[in-house]
Parts: sequence; structure tokens; C-alpha cells
Amino acid sequence: MPPATPPQDRLRLAVQKSGRLSSDSLDLLTRCGIKVKAPKERLLLHSENFPLDLLFVRDDDIPQLVMDGVCDLGIVGTNVLEETALERRNNGAGTGYVTERDLEFGACRLAIALPEERAYSSAADLAGVRIATSYPRLTQRFLTERGVTAEVVMLSGSVEIAPRLGLAEAICDLVASGSTLEANKLRAVETIFRSTAVLIRGARDLNPAKQHVLEILLRRIDGVQLASEAKYIMLHAPKAALEEIKRLLPGSENPTILPLAGDDSRVALHAVCQEAVFWETMESLKRVGATSILVLPIEKMML
Ligand code: ATP
Ligand code: ZN
Repeated sequence: MPPATPPQDRLRLAVQKSGRLSSDSLDLLTRCGIKVKAPKERLLLHSENFPLDLLFVRDDDIPQLVMDGVCDLGIVGTNVLEETALERRNNGAGTGYVTERDLEFGACRLAIALPEERAYSSAADLAGVRIATSYPRLTQRFLTERGVTAEVVMLSGSVEIAPRLGLAEAICDLVASGSTLEANKLRAVETIFRSTAVLIRGARDLNPAKQHVLEILLRRIDGVQLASEAKYIMLHAPKAALEEIKRLLPGSENPTILPLAGDDSRVALHAVCQEAVFWETMESLKRVGATSILVLPIEKMML
């Protein structure tokens, strides 16, 4: 057993307790080789094989916890992050944080939506309109940038039913597929912000031990992200077609070429492709003479 890391040298990461970001956040840690044994009912969990502790909270609290230095790191959507930063700036509170990585999950957009039958051609049509939202500062920033004066009302949940209840004429809410809007007879007319989950850390310096752990964590995240796109491709090819085949392989450099026992005219080629390998690519490879084409997922990668 390695010696236990003292508590002051363990990184503390805030993640959403239960919601749309929870399973992707935990999956990422698992793919980084960091074991955290549920039960999630606990507020704080210690990883057994990495000096990382997880704090399970509501996503809305994550930016504050990081900006106030209660947690070293947080995984949160940029929608919540930017709204909190604007709020704290308005209140004169510190907003120090650094975005370490875009994690590419939790993608959604914040959109202004109107009842389907209402005409809309530009932001000027929002003048004097009452807009319900859980993101009043992002909404107000959009209106101010467009020089539009409208009334923004804060609602913390079920924003999409506000027009039906007569609470507002428009809403500004998160949209992924648009089906919630459709069910409420609303139509998105402006996208005001695009969000994905990010890993943030506080702006203050970490102690050297924590900084070291953070660097290991970031390198592992990079490895996971590289591997998630990349594929390992193996094929047999006529020597004469090698140049053509290399050109067809997306994002691969310096493939390995191996002789084939008992066949001088053909070789085996192994390559890591940094981009997706589509059926069309495989068909093109086949056309120039490649055979036995295998495309394998890559679990981990370190360059
Ligand atoms: P909590 O109880 O933690 O406050 P919540 O209800 O505010 O949860 P969720 O609905 O779980 O939050 O969404 C968390 C985050 O997931 C959002 O802030 C956003 O960044 C992201 N997200 C991704 N897709 C969507 C979507 N279709 N609708 C809403 N949020 C989405
Ligand atoms: Zn929330």
C-alpha cells in the first residue's frame, strides 16, 4: 500500500449530485482510472486509489464553491458558470476561476422562445416583452448588447409553462432537442448562449502537492479525450497502393508497416487515426486494394 496522502494534499472536486451532468462526470473519472465507490447519498466521497475527494452538490452551487476556494475543482455547465460569474461581478464578489478543460458533454443552448403563433424577425421584437428565465443575467446581457429594453423575470423552475400561466410572454431557457418547447407550443427564436460542461479550478495557486495531482488528472483527461475520437486501424495492402492508402486514412501519421509471411507483394499496415473512421473510408480503402480491414477502439492514450 502506498502511504496515504495527507488530507491537505488531496484535491477536492465538486460534481453535480443528481442530474444531467452526474453520470458523465463520474464516467470521466472512471475512464481516468479514478475509483469512487458510490453510495452517492454521502456528501463527500474519497477516491480509494487517487488523492481526490468528491463533493456532491447541486450544479448551481459549484461555481461558488470553486470561486470561494471551498473546492479546488468543479465540473459544471458554462451556462451556470457564466450566470454565476455575472451575478458575482454585479455584487462585487470575486469571480476568480480558470477553465482547465472543455469536457464536451452536457451540450445545450440557452434560447429565447416565444409562443408559436407570435411573429419574430429580430431582437427588436422583444422590446417591452416580459421574459421568464432562470438565467436573468445572461438574458439581460443579450438584451443590452442588442439595445433592447424588455422585462426579465426570474423563475427558478418550470420556466416553459410561464407563458401558459400568463406569467410572461416569452421565456429564455435551456434547449437540447426542442421537444419541451414543442410540447408547450413554444418556438426558439434566438440562441443567446451555447453551453458544455467544463472542468474549472479556483484562481489561487494550489500547494505543490495538489498542483502535481492536478497535472496528472489533466493528463489523464487529455488521454481520455484523445482516445474517444481515435481508432486503431489494421489492414493488409498491396505495396503499390501504400501511398494512396496513407492518404485515405484520416489523421494518421507514420503508420507501422510489417511484412506478411509468404507474400512479398503485400504488407500489413497498423495506424492510429485521430479522427472517426467511417464506412465510406473503409470502402475507399477496399477499392484501392486493402483487405482484412479492422477498426478498433482505443481505451487510453498518452502522447
Ligand atoms: P440541480 O438539482 O443540480 O440544480 P438542475 O435541475 O438545475 O439540477 P439539470 O437539469 O440536471 O439541472 O441540468 C444540469 C446541467 O446540464 C445544465 O445546467 C446544463 O449545463 C446541462 N444540460 C445539458 N442538456 C440539458 C438540457 N436538455 N436541459 C437542461 N440542461 C441541460
Ligand atoms: Zn441546478
